[in-house]
Amino acid sequence: MAETRAFQAEIRQLLDILVHSLYTEREIFLRELLSNASDALNRAQFEQLTQHDMLDADAEPEIRLAMDEGAGTLTVSDNGIGMARADMEQNLGVIAHSGAKAFVAAMQEGKGAAQDVIGQFGVGFYSVFMVAQRVRVVSRSHLQDERAWAWESGGDETWTIEEAERERRGTDVIITLRDDAKEFLKPFRLKDVVRRHSDYIAFPIVVGDDGEATNRQTALWRQGARDISAEQYGEFYRTLTLDFGEPRAHLHVRADVPLQFYALLYVPQGDGPNLLGMQREPGLKLYARKVLIEEATTDLLPEWLQFVVGVVDSEDLPLSVSRESVQATRVMARLKQTLTRRLLGELKRMAEKERERYLELWQVFGRYLRQGLAVSEEERESLEALLFFNSTRDDDAASWHSLQDYAGRLAQGQTDIYYILGEDIHSARRSPHLDAFRRRGIEVLYFTDPVDPFMLMGLETYGEHRLRNVDEADIDLEGIGDAGDEAEDEQGEALGESDFDALQARFRAVLGERVQEVRASHSLVDSPARLVSGEGAQERYLYRVNRLLEREVELPVRTLELNPRHALLHNLGGMLASRPQDPLIDATIEQLYETALLQDGLHPDPAAMADRLLLLMEAATGRTPAADEESAADAPAVEANGEAFDESADSG
Ligand code: ADP
Ligand code: MG
Repeated sequence: MAETRAFQAEIRQLLDILVHSLYTEREIFLRELLSNASDALNRAQFEQLTQHDMLDADAEPEIRLAMDEGAGTLTVSDNGIGMARADMEQNLGVIAHSGAKAFVAAMQEGKGAAQDVIGQFGVGFYSVFMVAQRVRVVSRSHLQDERAWAWESGGDETWTIEEAERERRGTDVIITLRDDAKEFLKPFRLKDVVRRHSDYIAFPIVVGDDGEATNRQTALWRQGARDISAEQYGEFYRTLTLDFGEPRAHLHVRADVPLQFYALLYVPQGDGPNLLGMQREPGLKLYARKVLIEEATTDLLPEWLQFVVGVVDSEDLPLSVSRESVQATRVMARLKQTLTRRLLGELKRMAEKERERYLELWQVFGRYLRQGLAVSEEERESLEALLFFNSTRDDDAASWHSLQDYAGRLAQGQTDIYYILGEDIHSARRSPHLDAFRRRGIEVLYFTDPVDPFMLMGLETYGEHRLRNVDEADIDLEGIGDAGDEAEDEQGEALGESDFDALQARFRAVLGERVQEVRASHSLVDSPARLVSGEGAQERYLYRVNRLLEREVELPVRTLELNPRHALLHNLGGMLASRPQDPLIDATIEQLYETALLQDGLHPDPAAMADRLLLLMEAATGRTPAADEESAADAPAVEANGEAFDESADSG
C-alpha cells in the first residue's frame, strides 16, 4: 500500500513556480537529473573503495536514457548508490528545506533565471516538474539488506512512497512528460541536450539503444583549455559555488612532471556568504584518477589562499581513502606548493596585464594576500608584486599604487618607502605625521586595511628600500625632496624657550606615564602635536594586530611632539603664565594627547572624550566653567583647531 504525504510548504511553493511558469530552457531538467546520477555514481565508486559487500560491487558505472513513445515516458537510470526508503523520504520529500525557501525568495526578487540557478539551491531534482506530469522514482540502495522503493508525485500537494521491485542497485527516474514536452522523447533532442549541458560528466550517458556514450566523458578540467569556452568555464564555476555571476579569475593547469595532475581553480566573485546565507566551506574538490576523494580539502592551499575554489585531479595520489600514507602526504605537499606558485603567478600576470580586473579582485581578496605576506616567507617576493595601496600622491581612495610604482618615483635623495597606518584614508590623510612629507613632496602610502599592521611583520623591506612608518621619531627628511622656499619663520614665530620649557613640564605632569617624552617638533607645520614612536617598530604593530584579534592590550607609550609655532601652543603658553590654575590648561593638554591618538586611529574609546569636549566648547564660546566674570572676559579663546573636530578644515 502506498503511503501518501504532503509536501512541506516551501516545496509546494517551489513546485508551484516550476509548474506554472513558462520556461524557455526547460531542457535543463535533464542536466539536473544527470548531475544527480553522476553524484550517485561518484558516491558508489567511493563506497567501493572501502566496502566490498555492497550490492553489485563490480557494476560498470553507467547512465541510461530510455524513451517510451507509447507511454510518453522518459526514464533516466543510473547504477549509482541508490536510495533506501529513509533516503527517499528525506531527499525528495519531507525535510525542512532551506534551499527551497531561498530559491523561492530568489525568484521573487528576480535574482537570476530559474533554469540557471535551481541546481545551486540543492533543489535541482524538482526542475523535472517543468516538463513532467508525473514522476516516479524507483531506487534500490547499495546496502545489501535494503529493498527497492518507489516515490511518486504529480508535482502538486502530495507524494507517495511504496514498495517496489528493482533487482540491481541504482535509481530510475521515470518521467511522464507533459503534452507540451514530448520533444524529450526524441533521441536527437536528448543527445543535443546531453552534449550541451552534460558533456563532461565522467560516466557514459547512453541514449536509447545506442551502442556508445553520447557524452565525451572528459571532465572539464581534463580537457584542453583551447577547447573550453568562457561560458563553459563560467558554468562550471557556478556549479561549484552558489554564485550567479562570473568568477574573477580562473586558472587551468595540466601538469605532467614532476607530478601529473589537472586543476581548475577559480577566484570567486565575492567573499561573503552565499545566496543561502551560508559562508562557503573552504576547500578544493579532490579527485584521484577521476574518483572523487574529498568534497572540500583544505590541504592543497595555504590558509591565506582558501578563498580560491576549484577542482584538483591527481594521477599520483593513491586511491586509498586514508590519505595519511607517506606517499599521499608527499604528493599532497608537492601539489600544494605547485598550486600556490601557479596561482600567485596568475595573479601577478593579471596585476600586470589586466590591472583593472586585478584591482577589483584586490579590493575583495587583498586582505588574504596581505595575510600571506605576514606568514609566508617563501612566497614573499611573489606576494610583494601583488600589493596595491592608496597614496598621498593623489589622496584618492579609488586610485591604487604598487610598491614598484612607488619605488620607481622616489623623491630626490629618498631611499626609504614611507607609509602611514590609519583607519581609513579619509581620516589618515589629515594626520599631522604627513605635514613634513607633504611640504617636501614626498609620497606616503596609506596602510589602512586592518590587516596591514599584520602584513608589516613580513614586509620590512622592498628590494633595497626599507619601509618606514611616518610616525617614527628618528625619520630625518633633511635633504630629501624639495622643502620649497618656505622659510621656517614664514610659519610663524616659535614659542620662547622658557615658555616652551614651562609648557613641556606641564604636559609631562599631566600625561605622566602615558607618554615617554614631550619635546619640540621640527617637522610639524599645520598641526599642534603628534605622537611618535621610537625603536621597536614591531611593538607598535602588535597593538593594532592584537586589537584586530580583539585581544586586550595596553596602548603603546610614545613620545609627544609639540609644534612650538602653533597658535594653540602660544595660547596655552600665555595661559600658563597668567593663570596656571585654570582647568582649561589641563583639559586642553589631555585633549591634544587624545586627538593625536584619534588621528592615528589608536584611540581606544573616543566617546569618552565627550565631556571634555563640551567643557572646551563652553570655554571657546565664551563662558568658563569657573564662572569667574573677570577671567572669563579675558580668557584667551581656546582655539579648537584640531582638525579632527572641524570637517571644513579639510586641507587634504
Ligand atoms: P542536490 O543534488 O543539490 O543535493 P537535488 O534536488 O538535485 O539536490 O537532489 C536531492 C537529493 O536527492 C540528492 O542530494 C540525493 O541525495 C538524492 N538523489 C537525487 N537523485 C538521485 C539519484 N539518481 N541517486 C541517488 N540519490 C539521488
Ligand atoms: Mg542535484
